[in-house]
Amino acid sequence: MSAPAPSAPAPAGPVVRISGLHKSFGEREVLTGVDLDVAQGEVVCIIGASGSGKSTLLRCVNLLEQPTSGTVEVLGVEVTDPDVDIDRVRAHVGMVFQQFNLFPHRSVLDNCTLAQRQVLKRSKAEAEAIARKNLAHVGLADRADSMPAQLSGGQQQRVAIARALSMDPALLLFDEPTSALDPELVGEVLTVMRELADEGMTMLVVTHEMAFAREVADRVIFLDAGVILEEGPADQVIGNPREERTRSFLRRVL
Ligand code: ADP
Ligand code: MG
Repeated sequence: MSAPAPSAPAPAGPVVRISGLHKSFGEREVLTGVDLDVAQGEVVCIIGASGSGKSTLLRCVNLLEQPTSGTVEVLGVEVTDPDVDIDRVRAHVGMVFQQFNLFPHRSVLDNCTLAQRQVLKRSKAEAEAIARKNLAHVGLADRADSMPAQLSGGQQQRVAIARALSMDPALLLFDEPTSALDPELVGEVLTVMRELADEGMTMLVVTHEMAFAREVADRVIFLDAGVILEEGPADQVIGNPREERTRSFLRRVL
């Protein structure tokens, strides 16, 4: 049995609701008022220049960064409320980082079972069965007993995705998941992400892969100097941006 959700996902409500989010580091205000809802099953890609606040925004969703002001709700629970048990909320929000962040001295299978056992209190047998199912899902059924260092970067990132999926997340956050990969390994990770999107996973993805964003995103957000400067369907924001700053960003990355 998994731990109960902080609340059952409200069918009509968004999975994430970010309102008036500000974040400063010392004197420097990095997010200056972000409002963003992500609906159930929606794939939202966040694009923008280096330093525009993309990672900070993502990290505020699961409180890896504490917002300076504003609110973040996940599944209808205000995670920015100091009385909320953030660990219970985090259990439902998977995060995949640029640097896979696998435990180097643990097997692939252990990497995928540790949080299930510690956070969700699943039995060893149940956690392993779920981990193996998700490793199969990302094409790594035969690598359960490998150590991370024995895998390619693309395989390690797929393990990180399987690990996140093993927590039955209501939402997956991806922070430039392919930016650390050799070019020939990017495709296998994007393929897994595309499949998750097709299966209806709710995803918030920071990426520089414009072709992927254009194909997979339901909505693209252009973050500029700590605010959402432009958002809309991928074909509009990437294909026919309204704002000159979006156009100039895209000229640099495309
Ligand atoms: P992006 O992911 O879009 O490249 P970040 O969210 O990582 O941007 O960073 C936005 C700005 O905030 C940058 O200027 C960065 O240096 C600063 N920043 C991020 N994290 C911290 C931190 N922990 N302490 C101080 N400054 C930070
Ligand atoms: Mg970043």
